[in-house]
Amino acid sequence: MNRAWVLSTLVAAGAVSMAAAGLQQAPASGAAKVVEIQKLKDNLYVLTGGGGNSAVFVTDLGVVLVDTKLAGWGQPVLDKIKTVTKLPVTTIINTHAHGDHTGSNEFFPTSVEIVAQQNTRLNMDRMEAFKGLKVNFLPKLMFKDRMTLGSGKDRIDLYYYGAGHTNGDAWIVFPALRVLHAGDMLGARQPPAVDPDNGGSGLAYPDTLAKAAASLKNIDTIIPGHGPLMTMRDLEEYAQFSREFRNGVVSGFNHGLSLGEVVESWKVPAGKYSAYTAPPERTTASARAIFGELTRGIGP
Ligand SMILES: [Zn+2]
Repeated sequence: MNRAWVLSTLVAAGAVSMAAAGLQQAPASGAAKVVEIQKLKDNLYVLTGGGGNSAVFVTDLGVVLVDTKLAGWGQPVLDKIKTVTKLPVTTIINTHAHGDHTGSNEFFPTSVEIVAQQNTRLNMDRMEAFKGLKVNFLPKLMFKDRMTLGSGKDRIDLYYYGAGHTNGDAWIVFPALRVLHAGDMLGARQPPAVDPDNGGSGLAYPDTLAKAAASLKNIDTIIPGHGPLMTMRDLEEYAQFSREFRNGVVSGFNHGLSLGEVVESWKVPAGKYSAYTAPPERTTASARAIFGELTRGIGP
């Protein structure tokens, strides 16, 4: 009887310790963190999962990684990069400050050059994730309106067209491949996601999109911040849609409607935008950003 008790206790203790170890190992091993890699061109890949869409651009000098996903996703990102090249990551470009695009900057060696629009650097300066020793993972190469990295087939053009999602959204063009990474300025076919705390502007958003659509040439494929690939036609359509949304909200504000009344009354214009929706939560947040700007009397 004693022996049976000891045995069952040992078995139970073993089961408990295995369960505890399993709990501790699961997040650390990243077993559940699945990053998918999609080949867009011979030297350009898209990584999905774990936050925003990342681009992997393989140049002669090393890998340029656009956006690093959420914190804790660096290893699965690197594992996927290693399936397509032996070259190390030498450059990271952050499209904007949000943690689902910058969270795994800290996974990469401090020798990696990190690039961003200058307002994005200022926004990242304020983030808890980049305090203390982690200042090493802030962008150190900044641009204001335009910058070029590399040359020839490895050339990358970075542009800033004004506020929208934040006040530091970079538009990243791979000219030789006719591909654009648009960050979170493009994504869901819904009213724009605006982050006023990071300088985003619902008033400026459509103008910024229109400027990008008019300025960027020779682009066949757009990688949005989230979701499936898009085209310039989608960008033009989103510029138009977001303009109609903004104008509707501004008109409601000017007619003395409340935020709730504007959200209640605004509908996706019939006929033109069949793939678009206006979920109440997103629509409210987007309209609230515009109301805030109108109340403060800023914007165009
Ligand atoms: Zn974002």
